[in-house]
Amino acid sequence: MRNAVILLWMTVVAPLSFGAQSIFDPSQNIWTIGNGWIRAVFQLSPDGYFLTRQISDLQSGDQWTPSPNRPTSPVRLQAGTDVFDVQRPFLLLDQYTQTVNPSGLRQYIVLQDLNSVAQITVILEVYDNQPVLRYSLRYRNLTASPAYVNWINMLPWTFDDAGQSYAAFRVNQWSVDSTPGDFEPLQTVLDPSGTPVEVDSGAGGQQCGWLALRDANMRGLFAGWEFDGRVKTTVRQVGSPGYVQFSSTVLDLNHPVPPVGDFQTPYAFLGLFHGDWDEAGYRTQRFSEAVLAKPAPDPKTFPYVSWDSWAYEDQIDEQTLMRNADVAASVGVELFIVDLGWARAIGDWYEDPAKFPDGLSAVSAYVHSLGMKFGLHFALTEADPASPVLQANPDWTSTESDGYFGASSLCLSNQPTRDWLIQQGIRIIDQYNVDWILQDGQNMVKQCTKTTHTHDPNDSNYANAVDGLNAVVSAIQAARPNVNWENCENGGSMMTFNMVKSYVTSITNDASGSLASRQAVYGATYPFPPRFAERYMPGSDGLDLYATGSYMFGGNWVLMNSLVDLTPDQVGFLAQQIGVYKSQRADIAEAKVYHILPPAADGTDAIQSYNPATDNATAVITRANSDGPGYIFRPQGLVPDQQYVVWFANDPSIYLQTGSQLMQSGVRVQLPTPYSSDIVHIQHQ
Ligand SMILES: [Zn+2]
Repeated sequence: MRNAVILLWMTVVAPLSFGAQSIFDPSQNIWTIGNGWIRAVFQLSPDGYFLTRQISDLQSGDQWTPSPNRPTSPVRLQAGTDVFDVQRPFLLLDQYTQTVNPSGLRQYIVLQDLNSVAQITVILEVYDNQPVLRYSLRYRNLTASPAYVNWINMLPWTFDDAGQSYAAFRVNQWSVDSTPGDFEPLQTVLDPSGTPVEVDSGAGGQQCGWLALRDANMRGLFAGWEFDGRVKTTVRQVGSPGYVQFSSTVLDLNHPVPPVGDFQTPYAFLGLFHGDWDEAGYRTQRFSEAVLAKPAPDPKTFPYVSWDSWAYEDQIDEQTLMRNADVAASVGVELFIVDLGWARAIGDWYEDPAKFPDGLSAVSAYVHSLGMKFGLHFALTEADPASPVLQANPDWTSTESDGYFGASSLCLSNQPTRDWLIQQGIRIIDQYNVDWILQDGQNMVKQCTKTTHTHDPNDSNYANAVDGLNAVVSAIQAARPNVNWENCENGGSMMTFNMVKSYVTSITNDASGSLASRQAVYGATYPFPPRFAERYMPGSDGLDLYATGSYMFGGNWVLMNSLVDLTPDQVGFLAQQIGVYKSQRADIAEAKVYHILPPAADGTDAIQSYNPATDNATAVITRANSDGPGYIFRPQGLVPDQQYVVWFANDPSIYLQTGSQLMQSGVRVQLPTPYSSDIVHIQHQ
């Protein structure tokens, strides 16, 4: 009967526009939140349970409804022994909306626990033209003593399986031992007997903090969670009685909340897509760019071409850097980064006077005089045991140490350590006129169970992520907002949708060569926009079209060559290739990424962008050690009746064809020798 009432009520509501809005029906306590693309319906039932009623894709008609015998609620949180979920009755205390930037709406629903031990505020957000619901919970402790939030579920979604079979899709992140494969995409068909598919995400975890699910009819959901510490996420299908269930929990959570204090869960989001994994990725990326991610420094000139001093490892000095800066500026490098080795020691963040007799600021000034930005390495979670900070404060270390270049690890959620580090970051920026911070280290979220620190000893994962790393970075960024940050962490092992909020790019390989670079981009550009797939090109790659082609698609292209050792011909070739990168980066940055053929040592691979705003496509085709001098490339996403001009970076051929001709018959890409590449440009005519 209740469902009939809801359906009747739904039919009399005017169709929603594309603008975000929330409609509250006080007679039924029903909220309908949406924007003309997504519509999510929630209800505080007459018996006091807060329920998810339906999530609909208004463009495709796809529906996600709770299983009839399995009510579901976005409220999933535990404090002490009190569980707040679908079986906990509440009273509606208040409800109101706020507009949020950019172009969004936030609905607050304030619920009072019937036992008056807690107040739970459900926070729901929608944004114009995004098929995504973003949400969080705020818990308020109404008891007279401290409470400990010890369990949350950031993906509190259970839906009827509609008798379908499902596939789940994840992407590995970079890991120290390359096992499992760095940025390898993983598709798994769900076992209807309930075996969960797991995502182990966060700093030092195995996978990116993202998950997509779809059925055989291309009805799909994607989800991300905005937390940099370790999270275990699962999705499973229980074929009888018939539901799919997500779960995502912050590991080892034990967050103290004082009386009348609040705890807000990390935000997460659930999005709709209809199509393949490329479409899931594209919808995620557009949402990330529109709502979450720190904006690119300048969309026209980002991602940058940069140079990094690691060609010399820590054997750097003023003269070496200045001579490389001359060549870097001449080939078109925009950002010049001084990597590890500039300081007296890790944690002693003053320049080494033996290496920089005129001060590091002299190098910075020289780099600026050449028209480049100046970047600096900062391993903020580490300090050498002999450094003054640890000599004076030996207890500032975390219990777990990662041994980063002989340093000890610091506990950033210990307030005195945090305060010192914030002051160091601000001073470094000011003293050396820094435009760019290369944040590095081994695992940015440390384990620390010390009872002598200001955090709860049993809340390390949450505390070192939110009150540690995030608090330090956001304080420095608030004080010096014009400095852009890069997430490095060796090779990119904190690939989360919280990371994108503070950093403008993230490394996805560790100078591991051409093939690894392409594999990193191939995997990382499912969840993340191309600008978050930064690659370091080592000098050992050599300088030929195979090497440079391996860096043409994706986020910052970081040269790690000793530029002063290049021949004039090599310098000329590099300058020309940097020009090619710059000519196509803006179009790729906003495009949908099509993953055509994955890279392999003995294969040919292809990755393509299609930018609907310009109606242009760009594809990088690379032949590794494979047979066959040619490859038929069939582009995707073109407008069938549109005429396109097709031209290549290397092959002089030019074609004029329609989108449908190109998509059906393809174009031949000439790859005459192993280890070669070409770029296909398909331009709106
Ligand atoms: Zn600690």
